[in-house]
Amino acid sequence: MGFVVTLDGPAGSGKSSVAKRLAERLDFNYLDTGALYRAIACCMDRNGIAPDENARFMEYLGSMRVRIDGNGVFVNGEDVAALIRSPRVDSVVSAYSALKPVRGALLGLQRDQANHGNLVTDGRDMGTVVFPEANVKFFLTATPEARAERRYKELLKKGEPALYDEVLAQMRERDRIDAGREFAPLKEPIDSIHVDTSDMTVDEVVDRLTDIVKEGLGV
Ligand code: C5P
Repeated sequence: MGFVVTLDGPAGSGKSSVAKRLAERLDFNYLDTGALYRAIACCMDRNGIAPDENARFMEYLGSMRVRIDGNGVFVNGEDVAALIRSPRVDSVVSAYSALKPVRGALLGLQRDQANHGNLVTDGRDMGTVVFPEANVKFFLTATPEARAERRYKELLKKGEPALYDEVLAQMRERDRIDAGREFAPLKEPIDSIHVDTSDMTVDEVVDRLTDIVKEGLGV
């Protein structure tokens, strides 16, 4: 198993941008686990399969082959990367990712990534459930307002119509479901390093995390 660095935290804490750049700096592989949950939610939703439709849901889940690599996120061979960051997927993803069969379906895939080299990975349960033995664990957070502001600007940049108040309300709802669910809820690992990114730029966070990981690597 490679050297594993986990970043957990709520939506908009900067995890994904930071994790991606941290991986580049360290020359580690990067795994965005939110993209996996988004891919499942997106395809289920597109096929009109609600998270409470047991038989159809289980049948479709069983037929899904999810794969992720540097080129995209694939479900049964289709690259869905361009579809999974929409406000629609933002609003439905937590209901699907709260379900035990969905989490079970993605566990092996996530763990396997550590067999292919050193890894930086981000999500909600990376340090608690997926990689409890990770070498370095971070928990990134920021005020709800700072997180909503980032997401709002991201949507405007992509040309998506967005209202700040709606983004904030939806983010709070997603956090509520992610932190309150029964299986693998978002929670701070006890052995993680807590970083509040509210007043930090992405570069500042990446610098700080790089220094800490390098210390852990002994370089
Ligand atoms: O990180 P991102 O915002 O893309 O994650 C989308 C959603 O996927 C989260 O709101 C959460 O419901 C789910 N997720 C999860 N466990 C992870 C990563 C993401 O439940 N490890």
